[in-house]
Amino acid sequence: MISFNRPPHVGREETYIAEAIANGKICGDGMFTRKCSEWLQIHAKTAKALLTTSCTHAIEMAALLAGIGPGDEVIMPSYTFVSTADAFVLRGAKAVFVDIRPDTMNLDETLIEDAITEHTRAIVPVHYAGVACEMDTIMEIAGRHGLFVVEDAAQGMMASYKGRMLGTIGDFGCYSFHETKNYSMGEGGALLIKDSKDILRAEIIREKGTNRSQFFRGEIDKYSWQDAGSSYLPSDINAAYLWAQLEIAEEINRDRLHSWQLYHELLKPLADEGKIELPQVPEGCAHNGHMFYIKVRDIAERTELLTYLKEHGVYAVFHYIPLHSAPAGRKYGRFHGEDKYTTRESERLVRLPMYYGLGEEDVEMICHQLGRYFS
Ligand SMILES: *Cc1c(COP(=O)(O)O)cnc(C)c1O
Repeated sequence: MISFNRPPHVGREETYIAEAIANGKICGDGMFTRKCSEWLQIHAKTAKALLTTSCTHAIEMAALLAGIGPGDEVIMPSYTFVSTADAFVLRGAKAVFVDIRPDTMNLDETLIEDAITEHTRAIVPVHYAGVACEMDTIMEIAGRHGLFVVEDAAQGMMASYKGRMLGTIGDFGCYSFHETKNYSMGEGGALLIKDSKDILRAEIIREKGTNRSQFFRGEIDKYSWQDAGSSYLPSDINAAYLWAQLEIAEEINRDRLHSWQLYHELLKPLADEGKIELPQVPEGCAHNGHMFYIKVRDIAERTELLTYLKEHGVYAVFHYIPLHSAPAGRKYGRFHGEDKYTTRESERLVRLPMYYGLGEEDVEMICHQLGRYFS
């Protein structure tokens, strides 16, 4: 059976974890956390990257930094993971869902402005499959209305929009290092901060509301409670696991892009025959091979296809149930405008196995099975 995902494990993780233990520093902000954050800052070209316990927590930090509170509205797609909404709903805000574009499954930038009210405080673009949202338009709208932009770049590490790394375009960007993402520390994430004026408060929020980060840097001689905060810093053991992958980040990216290209090439004939649709990557977007999905006719065909693939040794899966149709989505959110694509496109989407180290022969076998199913 070809599994859908395999958590990245590149070889040096155990060595670095042993080093973290030997350092006698397994709590947060040790040597490996520092290495990872510096790598992220340099590579993404952003003012600050803070490792967090998850992407969910990075979004929570962004919501706190943006001062989101009860009665505020936050615009986001309904076709996303629950964390995109949870972080803001926890602060008392309402999620305002806007339809997606069928070509990328991303927030339709042309529908955002109509959803803005006097309560709107932020826009949260989600870069689905590591393919960028139309950020120039989104930033322009946000600028004109004085709104924060928090990028949910959970799937967007190493991907870019017009040369800028995803997660560095909005005020805040959030990465995930969950085991299902391109780079992993088991559970973890990072908050990317564009403006250096937000760094100090972010460090305080992440350290239970204290200025301990400044204390450790020797900038102050004792630390104390400064603000409301929480514990968002991961153990250095987790960071050690991640560091092994950041060291070979380009190779991981190339490997995934190679699998993605091969899928695309081998499935092109089926798409040309009109049996399936292939993912599209707009001009100016460099993706990261996070996901390879196809779209089939409808939910009935999808259910049948997933069963067929499972019977033939391939574990393929569907993805998000639109948030506005879920119990909490109805309670904490509302859909603005018409749901033209969110439900329909989400029901047609099938994710094929994709992970670092997926073999060419595996991709060939999967495409062969797809060909047989559709013939
Ligand atoms: C994975 C994911 C998250 C959550 O990441 P965690 O690190 O598990 O908290 C949030 N948003 C999107 C779009 C994701 O894919």
